[in-house]
Amino acid sequence: MSKKEIQIQYKKKIKLFNQYNKSYYDKSKPDVSDKEYDELKKDILSLEQKYKFLKSKKSPAEIVGFKPSRNFTKAQHRIPMLSLANAFSEEDLVNFEKRTLNFISKKEDFKISYSTEPKIDGISASLTYKDGKFIKGLSRGDGKEGEDITANLSTIKDIPKKISAKNFPEEIDIRGEVFIQNSDFKNLKEKFANPRNAASGSLRQKNPNDTKKIPLQFIAYTFGYEKGLKIETQSDFLKNLSDWGFKTNPFNKLITGVKNLLINYNEIEKKRAEIDFDIDGIVYKINEFKLQKRLGNVANAPRWAIAHKFSSNKAISKILNIDIQIGRTGALTPVAKIKPINIGGVLVSNATLHNEDEINRKDIRVGDTVTVERAGDVIPHVLSVDIKKRSKDSLKFAFPQNCPSCGSKTIKEFNLITKKNDAVRRCTSEGYECEKIAIEKIKHFVSKEAFNIDGFGKKIVENFWKLKIIKLPQDIFKLDYDKIENLEGWGKLSVENLKYSINKKKKISLEKFIYSLGIRHIGLENAKILSKHFKSFLKFISLSKNSKYDELLDIDGIGETQINSIKNYFVNKINLNVLNELQKILYIEDNTIERKNGLLKNQTFMLTGKLDGISRAEAKSLIEENSGTTVSSISKKLNYLIVGQKATKRKIEKAKELKIKTLDQKEFLKMLNKTS
Ligand code: NAD
Repeated sequence: MSKKEIQIQYKKKIKLFNQYNKSYYDKSKPDVSDKEYDELKKDILSLEQKYKFLKSKKSPAEIVGFKPSRNFTKAQHRIPMLSLANAFSEEDLVNFEKRTLNFISKKEDFKISYSTEPKIDGISASLTYKDGKFIKGLSRGDGKEGEDITANLSTIKDIPKKISAKNFPEEIDIRGEVFIQNSDFKNLKEKFANPRNAASGSLRQKNPNDTKKIPLQFIAYTFGYEKGLKIETQSDFLKNLSDWGFKTNPFNKLITGVKNLLINYNEIEKKRAEIDFDIDGIVYKINEFKLQKRLGNVANAPRWAIAHKFSSNKAISKILNIDIQIGRTGALTPVAKIKPINIGGVLVSNATLHNEDEINRKDIRVGDTVTVERAGDVIPHVLSVDIKKRSKDSLKFAFPQNCPSCGSKTIKEFNLITKKNDAVRRCTSEGYECEKIAIEKIKHFVSKEAFNIDGFGKKIVENFWKLKIIKLPQDIFKLDYDKIENLEGWGKLSVENLKYSINKKKKISLEKFIYSLGIRHIGLENAKILSKHFKSFLKFISLSKNSKYDELLDIDGIGETQINSIKNYFVNKINLNVLNELQKILYIEDNTIERKNGLLKNQTFMLTGKLDGISRAEAKSLIEENSGTTVSSISKKLNYLIVGQKATKRKIEKAKELKIKTLDQKEFLKMLNKTS
């Protein structure tokens, strides 16, 4: 890469970094997980290390937080409110101690005492007291200037408004964290991703009366400007804070030596799920103020403190219960309901246990202390059990032998390919007889790749089912709109919109129709193959009468597994009734269109990221309708990589390496002679 190219890449990353900061600090609505944010930050810092010519005032090495919002009056911090350097491993801590000793020119045997304080994941605030009176409160903002949120902070009960203790300094800025307890967050779950964002959003409301309604709390831990403070260590300062009437963290400790820091770190990490507020690590501060003064600050963080972060994709929690979920194909999936825990910025309260075999192999039980992992967008799962923490009277989990929804027998099927019994246990009821399966089948029916009915999401399916408005797919086309209009959350306009979306979808291609039926083992690809073979709905349904299933064996891509599944589908009376009813309502297009000479003939495409207003499924179908092919991995055979928003960096880099052309949304649509 040339110097110019490196600079362009760097600038792009800085721009993205600032965009993330704005969403997180200003709007209290992060665009990405903390893990992704931290990786970008690390990426920028290592680029700066490698290429010394890269510099930006907006670099993560320079900035703190985000500039104050225009909604508030700005005010200067007399002493800046800084960020903290991070440590992720023992090695990082050893290096931190070494750097410190070098700086103050002490030998290795010099014992440093650290004030260790769990790092509450809230937002910091600075409270100015003059003659014992709380007179002004600021947010951190960009560290130099904060937002004047005095009125909002005044609504917090934990913040003393008047302090009359004799040793309270004449003037001081007390700093600490504003946060919401996890148990209080439950009621705000709909609006915010985690308690931190809820605290930030609530504290920075324009109207303090709105802030007052939220149970915000405050824990104090440091100070900024002071006049008349006669204390020499951080641990003494913390003690005084509580004498003055502030809440302090009950898990604060004074510790010497990296080994002991690690022991404390592991202990607190284990307790994390039991603590009713989110912590994302432990802050270590050199205890002596004299040493702190000598060490001073780098651009945006003190040299005398470091935040030892918890892993951003794993956490320890407790299993409160094990629920069995039933999927569209009858699979019984055990899900652990865990004590809510923040993993990388997302509050996790469910973790999949995959299947019965997995529970047996790991001997997972209700009440167990477990490590939960959340990697990327994958559903969180239970990684391991801490057997030592198990209580003596704990019982082995008894996996249900009957479907918890309809009571039918459950079985583990023999897999023709692996020649083994499946790990997954299934309900034997064939479809709509089992309530849970039926709901999942209808969700599938209206989903994006199937009927794609706008505004008919999973929640609506569940709600309409509960209210007995729908039981079978055909009911969707016979809705009682007057009844719906009177339901809570619905009105004339929303009902009109729903009606319009449903009517629009009465015409459907045969392949989408077959897919929407949710026949096991018949996904998009197989539905396409079957549609090409049968060409019309009538021929497809005639299978149920002529039973010529063996003929299907001649179709490329269809095997015994799929044929058995189609057979089971057609044997069921309710399924036949669904097909007959749908046939009366819908116009199912024959598969006669040969799309061989479209605009994208002989071209292969892959999509990374999100397109604006076009779903992944729609993009795929646009490509295929125009004779193009879509693939799911990058190889030399790929012609174009379509890059949407929040695209995967690695894919773009790989495409560049292989000299594959990248297209943005506009360029892609231009190839199809479309503009939007
Ligand atoms: P930081 O990690 O630099 O830590 C400083 C902050 O720690 C202080 O301002 C204070 O609020 C807090 N703190 C809690 N207890 C403390 C104690 N006892 N002593 C001192 N400070 C204490 O914080 P930051 O710069 O605000 O943010 C970095 C964090 O925010 C990272 O974890 C990052 O992942 C996350 N973040 C995420 C996004 C996103 O888009 N997901 C964006 C920005 C930041």
